[in-house]
Amino acid sequence: MASYDIIIIGGGHNGLVAACYLSRAGLKALVIERRDVIGGAAVTEEIHPGFRCSTLAHSVGPLLPNIIKDLNLARHGLEIITPEARVIALNPESQNICIYHDTKRTLNSIEKVSAADARNYPKFEQSFARIGKVLSSLVTATPPEIEKPSAGELFHLGKVGISFRKLGKVDAYRHLRWAPMAVADLAAEWFETETLRAAVAARGIFGAFAGPWSAGTSTGLLWQSAIDGHPIAPSSSVRGGMGALSDSLRKAAEAKGAEIRAGVAVARIEIKQDKFSSVVLGNGEEISARAVVSNADPRTTFLKLLDPGDLDPTFLLKIQNYRAAGVSAKVNLALSGLPSFTGLTDGGQLSGRIHIGPEIDYLERAFDAAKYGDYSPAPYMDITIPTLTDPGLAPAGAHVMSIYVQYAPYTLKNGDWNSRREEFADNAIRTLANYSPNLKELIVARQTITPLDLEQTYGLSGGHIHHGEQSLDQFFTFRPLIGWAQYRGPIKGLYLCGSGTHPGGGLTGGPGANAAREIVKDFKSRRL
Ligand SMILES: Cc1cc2nc3c(=O)[nH]c(=O)nc-3n(C[C@H](O)[C@H](O)[C@H](O)COP(=O)(O)OP(=O)(O)OC[C@H]3O[C@@H](n4cnc5c(N)ncnc54)[C@H](O)[C@@H]3O)c2cc1C
Repeated sequence: MASYDIIIIGGGHNGLVAACYLSRAGLKALVIERRDVIGGAAVTEEIHPGFRCSTLAHSVGPLLPNIIKDLNLARHGLEIITPEARVIALNPESQNICIYHDTKRTLNSIEKVSAADARNYPKFEQSFARIGKVLSSLVTATPPEIEKPSAGELFHLGKVGISFRKLGKVDAYRHLRWAPMAVADLAAEWFETETLRAAVAARGIFGAFAGPWSAGTSTGLLWQSAIDGHPIAPSSSVRGGMGALSDSLRKAAEAKGAEIRAGVAVARIEIKQDKFSSVVLGNGEEISARAVVSNADPRTTFLKLLDPGDLDPTFLLKIQNYRAAGVSAKVNLALSGLPSFTGLTDGGQLSGRIHIGPEIDYLERAFDAAKYGDYSPAPYMDITIPTLTDPGLAPAGAHVMSIYVQYAPYTLKNGDWNSRREEFADNAIRTLANYSPNLKELIVARQTITPLDLEQTYGLSGGHIHHGEQSLDQFFTFRPLIGWAQYRGPIKGLYLCGSGTHPGGGLTGGPGANAAREIVKDFKSRRL
C-alpha cells in the first residue's frame, strides 16, 4: 500500500490549490478525483464537435492574486482575460445599462437613462471599495474560534476593528446596516432606475435560494467587494475556459510533487480509534495517509463518505440541517454566428456578463416559482459569450454562449428534471430571444445541465453551486457549522477545503489556500 502524508478528496480548483500549498510545504499529497476530468465546476468541455465551453462557472471569482503569484500560475499557462464590460443589463425597451471596468464609460451609459443615478454611481462604487478593503483581510483569514479565540485570532480581529473604525462613521454604519438588509432595499437607496437596481441586486442572489426581497441578501455585495473591491460581479475569464485554470493548477501541483488520480471516486473514509486511517476507492483499493482533506461539499463528506456511527450525534444532526438546495441550471449553446441584441451596436458591451432580469419585481417573481417547487417561467439569467474574447473556443466565425439560469429548484413539485429538461431549456431560450431576435436561428446545438445533473455528474449535493447556502447563518464563523469553521472536521486527521468552508463559493481558491495553511500548522506542531 502506497503511503501519503495527505489525501485530497476531489480535484476541484480548491482541492488543487490545497494540493499545491501542501506539496510546497513538503507534504506528500495525493488528489483523487471521481470524474475523468479535473476541475470540478471549473471545467472546459466540448459541447458539440469543435465547440468548447466552460460548462459550469464562466467567470473567475476572481482568483485571489496572492494565489496566482505564490503558485506561479502564469508560468503554468494561466492567462486571465479581462473584458471591457463587467455586465450589460438588458431592458425590453432597450434602456440597456452597461457597467464597465472603467467608471467614466459606465457613467456615460447610466446618464442616458438617469442623470440622478449617474451622480450616485461613483459614490456607490467608492463606498463599497472602502468597506471591501477593510473586509478583505477576512477573506484570507481562518475564521476565529467562537468559544475560545486564540491570541493570534484576537489580534487579527483587533486589527480589522481598528481599520473598521478608520472607515469613519458614514461607511462604518453603512456596513453594519447593509449586511442584514434585503438587497432590493439597498439598491433602491442608491438608484431610481429599475434595470440598474436589478443588475446591482443580482450579486446578492446569485446561486441563492433567496430573492432580492429576502433579508441578508446585501451580504453578497459586501463580500464581493471584499474579494474584488467592487460590489458587481467581475467578468474576467480564462483563455481556454475555466478548465485552463484547473489545468494550470494541476501543473503547479504536479511540479511541486503532488500526485493526481482522476476517474476514480472515494467511496468511504475509514476511521480507526477516533482517527482518520484511510480512504477506500470505488474500485475497492484502500489508501492510507496521515490525514485527509475533502474538497467535496460538507453534505457529501459527512453524510455520504463517513459512517454515521463515526460522528457525534449532535454534529450529525447539525450537518443534516446544513442547507444546500440548489436553484441553478445551465444551458450552453453552440452558435453559427454572433447573435444581435436589440438596441446594442457596440460589441464591447457584450464582452462581459449579460444580465437578464430587468426589474427587482421580475427577479422576485422568478424566485416565487422556486419557492413553490417550479422553475421560473421568466428566469434571471447571467450569460457570457466567451468566444468574443477567446475565439479559439469555437470554429472561425462561430460562437459559444454560456447561459446560467436561475431559478431552477433541485426539487420540482411536478415531474422530474429528466422529463422536464427540454421544456426548461426551451423556456430559457424563448426568454432570451425577447432580447435577441435572431438567436434561435443561430443555434447549432445545445447542452442543458439541470440541478440533478449538477449533483449526479459534477458531485454537487442538492445541485448547490456554492456547496451550500451562503446566507448569514452559514457564513464566516458559521461555515459550514458554528464551531467547525477552521477547516478541521470533528475527527482527528479529517479536514475540509471546498466552497462549503470560508470564504465560500466562487472561483477564488480561498478555501483551498486557507485550509492548507491550517493543515500545515497541524503537521508542524505534530498534532497529526
Ligand atoms: C453552474 C455553476 C455556475 C457557476 N458560476 C460561477 C461563476 O461564473 N463565477 C464563479 O466565481 N463561480 C461560479 N460558480 C461557483 C464555483 O464554480 C464554485 O464555487 C467552485 O468551482 C467550487 O470549487 P471547489 O473546488 O470548492 O468545488 P468543486 O468544483 O465542486 O470540486 C469538488 C470536486 O470534488 C469531486 N468529488 C466529490 N466527491 C468525490 C469523491 N467521493 N471522490 C472523489 N472526488 C469527489 C468532484 O467531482 C469535484 O471535482 C458556479 C458554479 C456552478 C455549478
